[in-house]
Amino acid sequence: MRSLVRRAVEALSLALAVFQITLIRSFTRRGDAVVVLDIDNTLADAWPSFLRPYDSHRARLANLEVLPNIKESVHDPAARDGATIVYLSHRNLWEWPVTYQWLRTHGFVVRPDRLVLVPSAAAKVPLVRRIAEGRTVTMWDDLSYGHETGEVRFYDDVIESLAGVSLTYRGWADIVGLTGRGLERD
Ligand SMILES: [Mg+2]
Repeated sequence: MRSLVRRAVEALSLALAVFQITLIRSFTRRGDAVVVLDIDNTLADAWPSFLRPYDSHRARLANLEVLPNIKESVHDPAARDGATIVYLSHRNLWEWPVTYQWLRTHGFVVRPDRLVLVPSAAAKVPLVRRIAEGRTVTMWDDLSYGHETGEVRFYDDVIESLAGVSLTYRGWADIVGLTGRGLERD
């Protein structure tokens, strides 16, 4: 029963994401710059939070810190240049409100149609492909996991699929280069 509910929520999340991409396309024109930003381990210092106790998953998400330099170097210039900024994150649909609030609290430009949550990393690919049709897309997304185990692993199949999409991709190595935060912590 539980898995049935979960599958229904995932289907709803995907349907909503597709609708949001349609809106984003209708609010942008051919040639427009679109910056697609992941949240966990791209904007937010997410993985160390798995090593700390929290009252709830929601509290963990609400208290994530922004990684150093990423907002100033990636988000702020895009916002200044009038680029369309889309947040595309692999999070549960019921985490949408806490995610939206987190972005607002930390000064990220966001509006409801541009915070897109998907039930898997792989689900990002067809959505980004649709945004990239006729738009100039830069995507920042670590597409990695497992940092808390001391070893970074990558969603290789997703990264490979993105290579077939007309966009500029910035991944984990670029993010570490910018933020100075890899697996090392004080
Ligand atoms: Mg991430």
